[in-house]
Amino acid sequence: MSTNLELPVCSCCHRHIMPNDKCVKFDCPNCDNGDLIWRCESCRVAVRNYTCSSCNFQGP
Ligand SMILES: [Zn+2]
Ligand SMILES: [Zn+2]
Repeated sequence: MSTNLELPVCSCCHRHIMPNDKCVKFDCPNCDNGDLIWRCESCRVAVRNYTCSSCNFQGP
């Protein structure tokens, strides 16, 4: 029996974000379809640039 738990992927470091991670998620400012950008705790603290997987928009 396997649990099909879909973990979000950080848009900065492309690692899976654990449920207890203090991540942030927000809409891509460049996409109209409401694609979500995820940023894990370490990337949020380090203020790394993210890249949208849909439009390749990069932002702080
Ligand atoms: Zn990250
Ligand atoms: Zn986008």
